[in-house]
Amino acid sequence: MNLNYFYSTRIITGKNCVLNNYSHFRALGRRCLIVTGQSSAKKSGALKDVQSVLNSFNISYDIYDKVSQNPSIATCINGGKIAHAIEADFIIGIGGGSPLDASKAIAVFAANPDLTEEELYSVHWTNKPLPIVTIGTTAGTGSEVTSVSVITNSKGLKKSFKDDSIFPSLGLGDPTYTMSLSDEFTSSTALDALAHCIESYFNRTANDISMTFSIKGVKTLLKGLIALKEEGASNLSFEDRELLYNGSIYGGLAINATGTAFPHSLGYFLTELYGVSHGTACATFLPFFIEHNARQVPELSDSFFQEVGIKKEELIALISSLTPRFSLKLTDSEKKTLSPRWINNKNLIKSWGEIDSDFVYNLLTEMF
Ligand code: NAP
Ligand code: ZN
Repeated sequence: MNLNYFYSTRIITGKNCVLNNYSHFRALGRRCLIVTGQSSAKKSGALKDVQSVLNSFNISYDIYDKVSQNPSIATCINGGKIAHAIEADFIIGIGGGSPLDASKAIAVFAANPDLTEEELYSVHWTNKPLPIVTIGTTAGTGSEVTSVSVITNSKGLKKSFKDDSIFPSLGLGDPTYTMSLSDEFTSSTALDALAHCIESYFNRTANDISMTFSIKGVKTLLKGLIALKEEGASNLSFEDRELLYNGSIYGGLAINATGTAFPHSLGYFLTELYGVSHGTACATFLPFFIEHNARQVPELSDSFFQEVGIKKEELIALISSLTPRFSLKLTDSEKKTLSPRWINNKNLIKSWGEIDSDFVYNLLTEMF
């Protein structure tokens, strides 16, 4: 047996899980900062449920609704200042991966108001971050249940940090909140969840626990993804949304142990430079990653497809049918400008095979 897994979040999922588990909020303190995007917390119904729970315990709160997609470090520093100034005891993040990741960084800055950007990413802080509650409204990143946060740095690059101290105290997931997601983000976030499961499985750091989560995640997601393809996002039933949501949680539990692999590293530049949404950006490289692993680690690949119960070609066709097309032509000099990103890149190193700058250059030439 090959195990390596640490975990410290209470995860509760299911319809009405916020209202039904209100008692867990009481132990966290008397005052909190709620961190959200512009509208998803309201549209999903999650904010209303949270307000009702906080009001019932007389827990006072302020709302910081300034988090945009791919949240910036400046937004998090600002949120940390506000949380510090109001003397928040804990932070509640409501939203997709962007507000949830921001809530983790804000919890760190709130407890360490003089922390620099470099110290955040290198996990050099003195005081324990404030307790964090995460409430998901997308079925994608799994950030509700991970100790990872991805924040865009002051140079415009997406950069992650990971530490056991940012495990949410409480991660709540009611799939009902994802019913208001647009068609575009339903597909893109579902593909992100699938990418997490697959990149974690075909990862040099995978172990028996993470692989179990990956397999369960892919099997669960496949049913939802097939419904998504056949019926379209706007016709998805609650049960289909629940499958996508549960699959995203398994994906989070898998990457929590392993991190991701080269589709995520490559996807970042599509988001930063061309505005492609996170899930679509990663899924663009997923078919190639699947073929690559079939060549590099054929036995692992065979056992993966046997366990998840779909043929490689069928999975690739399903991913391709759900991945929005965008036209991009990269010049030789643009590809060369990107190359410093691929040196000592942790997610490239964790992928099977030799993934160096030349490999990425050739892949980008083939694709764009
Ligand atoms: P997101 O960036 O949080 O949200 C995308 C869009 O969907 C936003 O416009 C958001 O609106 C909207 N939205 C979210 N939930 C909605 C709902 N229920 N109803 C209506 N609209 C809704 O998307 P995401 O894909 O979940 O998160 C992506 C971020 O997570 C990226 O920064 C990525 O790098 C990061 N990530 C983190 C991890 C991790 O382990 N921590 C893993 C993978 C990815 P608002 O602007 O109003 O919120
Ligand atoms: Zn992702």
